[in-house]
Amino acid sequence: MNHYPKLTIVVPCYNEEEVLPDTMKQLAEVLESLANSNLIREDSTLLFVDDGSRDRTWEIIETASAQNPHVKGVKLSRNAGHQNALLAGLSVASERSDCVISIDADLQDDIRVIRTFVEKYWQGYDIVYGVRDSRKTDTWFKRTTAEGFYWVMGKLGIQLIPNHADFRLMSKRALEELLNYKETNLFLRGIIPLLGFPSAKVYYDRKERLAGESKYPLKKMLAFALDGITSFSIAPIRFVTALGFITFILSAVVGIYAIVQELMGRTVSGWTSLILSIWLLGGLELMAVGLIGEYIGKIFKEVKRRPRYTIETNLYKTSRSSFASRKEE
Ligand code: UDP
Ligand code: MG
Repeated sequence: MNHYPKLTIVVPCYNEEEVLPDTMKQLAEVLESLANSNLIREDSTLLFVDDGSRDRTWEIIETASAQNPHVKGVKLSRNAGHQNALLAGLSVASERSDCVISIDADLQDDIRVIRTFVEKYWQGYDIVYGVRDSRKTDTWFKRTTAEGFYWVMGKLGIQLIPNHADFRLMSKRALEELLNYKETNLFLRGIIPLLGFPSAKVYYDRKERLAGESKYPLKKMLAFALDGITSFSIAPIRFVTALGFITFILSAVVGIYAIVQELMGRTVSGWTSLILSIWLLGGLELMAVGLIGEYIGKIFKEVKRRPRYTIETNLYKTSRSSFASRKEE
């Protein structure tokens, strides 16, 4: 019986007290039904990562883990952000699982396809991507910005799975490979396609949030998109270089024009082009410096090699469990 894979479902949670009890219940049912179908081992687990929540999220996780042997929790000491919380969960889970599924706490992603994920794993896939069929439940704004984002990323040559968020299954060896990527500016969606390994896609409809509000306000979304671009591509910096080159050519033309004006004694009109160039070049330079600064900022963070998260409490270490033992009670 031991050849069945042990599955851990990792759920990052930030101020999710409203959805958490329901999420736990639904995911526990999924685990139980998968175990009953002999698709996963009975000691498979739900791992909730509390990403420095300010509400009762951790209390809920702690209580549930005391009652249900399948529920485990990890508490981060501060809000490290979705991607880092997810990574914390994945690395804790990787030591004790054969495969890991990550899913958001709000269950916008269809939990019914988890079974398909596991079936794909049985067929030998190391990475199974959950891909949204449509975005009709997202707001117009979110949909448009997301589409724009994939378009820009594609143009910059960054390979992404369109409409795939962080709902996916990874095998142990894919996870171990992922953990070899030591970069501090973490953009999981960009790294995972780089890992290689056999992979499959599973399509589903994305639903509304169970309850509560999005924990990704515009500010975080923009930061996330910018991180995605600047962690993977130096295309923006090339663009600025090209722009600088074009401006240089143009300024030669403007210069010739100014000299001609000067020789014809119409210097007053030369003033216009002069002022124009000052503004144009000033703007360009500022833009270039800002962009270079962005990269230097990343180098700075990378060089410091600070830990990306700190686990405060790790309930995953305590007591082993199985569905069987619970049934005996
Ligand atoms: N999340 C997190 N840390 C954060 C922000 C969000 O762990 O700083 C979690 C959140 O609890 C949820 C997931 O990341 O499980 C996705 O967030 P959300 O559903 O709010 O994003 P959206 O679906 O609106 O993009
Ligand atoms: Mg959501």
